[in-house]
Amino acid sequence: MNRPITATLALLACLALDARAGFYPLDFTISAQALKEACAAAQAKAEGRLQALAGETAPDFRKAFTAFGEIMGDLDDETAAPIFLGQVSPDKAVRDAGTDCDTAVSKYAVDVYSRAGLFKVLKAAADRGELLEGEDARLFEKVLLDFKRSGLDLPDAEREKLKELRQKIVSLSNDFSKEVAETGDFALFTEAQMAGTPEDMRKRLDQVDGKYKVTLDYPDYFPFVENAKDPEARRILEGKFNLRGGQKNKARLKEVLALRVEAAKLLGYKTHAHFVLEERMAKTPEAVMAFLDGLRRKLYLKGRPELKDLLALKAAEEGPRSDGVLHAWDWRYYHEKLMRTRYQVDQQKIKEYFPTDLVVEQMLAIYQELLGLKFRDLGPMGAWHPDVKVYEISDSRTGVVLARFFMDLYPREGKYKHAAAFTLIQGRVLPDGSYQKPLSAMVANFDKPTAEKPSLLQHGDVETLFHEFGHIMHQTLTRARYRRFSGTAVARDFVECPSQMFENWVWDEGILQRMSGHYADRAQKLPQDMIRRMLAARLVDAGLKYLRQNFFATYDMTLNIAGASDTTELYARLMPEVSLIPMSPGVIPEASFTHEMGYDAGYYGYLWSEVFAQDAFSRFEGDGILNEETGRDFRRWVLEPGGSREESVSLKGFLGREPNDEAFLRELGIGTPGAKPAKK
Ligand SMILES: [Zn+2]
Repeated sequence: MNRPITATLALLACLALDARAGFYPLDFTISAQALKEACAAAQAKAEGRLQALAGETAPDFRKAFTAFGEIMGDLDDETAAPIFLGQVSPDKAVRDAGTDCDTAVSKYAVDVYSRAGLFKVLKAAADRGELLEGEDARLFEKVLLDFKRSGLDLPDAEREKLKELRQKIVSLSNDFSKEVAETGDFALFTEAQMAGTPEDMRKRLDQVDGKYKVTLDYPDYFPFVENAKDPEARRILEGKFNLRGGQKNKARLKEVLALRVEAAKLLGYKTHAHFVLEERMAKTPEAVMAFLDGLRRKLYLKGRPELKDLLALKAAEEGPRSDGVLHAWDWRYYHEKLMRTRYQVDQQKIKEYFPTDLVVEQMLAIYQELLGLKFRDLGPMGAWHPDVKVYEISDSRTGVVLARFFMDLYPREGKYKHAAAFTLIQGRVLPDGSYQKPLSAMVANFDKPTAEKPSLLQHGDVETLFHEFGHIMHQTLTRARYRRFSGTAVARDFVECPSQMFENWVWDEGILQRMSGHYADRAQKLPQDMIRRMLAARLVDAGLKYLRQNFFATYDMTLNIAGASDTTELYARLMPEVSLIPMSPGVIPEASFTHEMGYDAGYYGYLWSEVFAQDAFSRFEGDGILNEETGRDFRRWVLEPGGSREESVSLKGFLGREPNDEAFLRELGIGTPGAKPAKK
């Protein structure tokens, strides 16, 4: 390692301090070469320990299950900085080495769960029939299940078969996504057909023979169908958009669905949906279908009048030519028109009231007040870039230090391009009985300040900030005993729930005023009439929006429960029934439904977690949006346990009753008979 000796000494001192404070010492100044070595060394160490574990002759819970978790946890910790640097290091060589490390460790982890020797030791420990309780019992059950789901309980030939099926599925899924991504189709439109589209769009489009070339990429497709006045032009583009993937992908989808059924049956599950849902909060396909069905009926109450409104707009615009149907190429256009004419929410104007530094400062203050925490700014201490800040989290009452987080908010060459919360070090009990304090990082890409204007946030960015920081809280406030359940290691249909709940704070009038201040004069808060219009616009066409989500979820679930003799026919039947909008003739929309490859039997999760997020939020609505006791309750019931018990139990504990969809529907203005409005 080539580093000046004084810098090395300073760094070592810093790392030693970290270790004494109970934090895992992460080295972000590592060179590409050292990173490669550290990554390989961590794997070699894990491999040695796993082999020793597989040779264990008298295994029990502690020697097998706890030890296995410790080995994998140490591997995570030792590769945390190397892998994360792959996303954020200013040095390209380090980023490349970090990405390689990520790939290698992911592959290695998959391989570990296919080891028969390891599974044998775990089973031998299980056969001892020790009396286990609480988190121990759950760890025991979940780890065995992880191995069983990998096929380790099957005879050799069947296990090989399962492996083969899964490889085929992965390869078909990749081809499916590639086919969609590589669609090169486009439409050529005349100046007249472009009427209504944004000027900046027309300026940047290529022209062919005096016509505009509009591709099917999102930055072309959405502004076009949202704004182009000519219904025939919209119809042409929507038709092409929903032919992406074509017959080839339709055939791939059919094959994947059949392979999934075969794999599920091998493992003893009735359907692929049963296999997937076993590990989710929803538990069974029947529960998901009942959830979607019940919600759909109530959403019609909002969706149908919205549809009527949009149809009235269409009749007014098209006159006698209108066929009285809101088509797939119409709804985005009339929704935009409604927003423009009736609500006039000017995002650019609103943005002037949200300087990034002010919003971040207030967001941190709000989270501290709400959850009973204190954040101490430690500056850029030991981070990977001078822009990064480190904060230490402690409990505001006891002063006990709980965790730390990094904030890396501005774009840089080569940095991760989206907003996300990364777990670096998971909280867990170490072999010496002490608690390893979590470390997380929030990464975003907000505009940097310029000479004329400070960095400003769109309201949508403010929402993203609250959402991602919700993940940081979920990750860092954990008190889970085991890594398997630490922080956001919860069921996949629950993981977004806390963050979705925290989004509600940016839709509260008082909070919006508190967080805002015009960049030219910070004393000027976001004007009340702007706030009112924002709040009113939030729910415009929400009934149709959620019915559309409900349709995708129903379609996905039906495919993975019962299959379909013809996937397009099923789409054409369910779409108008659930979303209230007919499928266009001649299209094959499922051929570009990429969610089906990776989020299969999981689309319902968006709605599911949102419904329970609103339910959890209803307690804050009742108790006060900044009520610290309620915030501390949320910490105790939901954030601290992570996945160490059933998510529904945590939610029920926080709410003091069974969770339900009433708050979600009330928010949409759909009353449920007998439902109490939240007290204000
Ligand atoms: Zn999220």
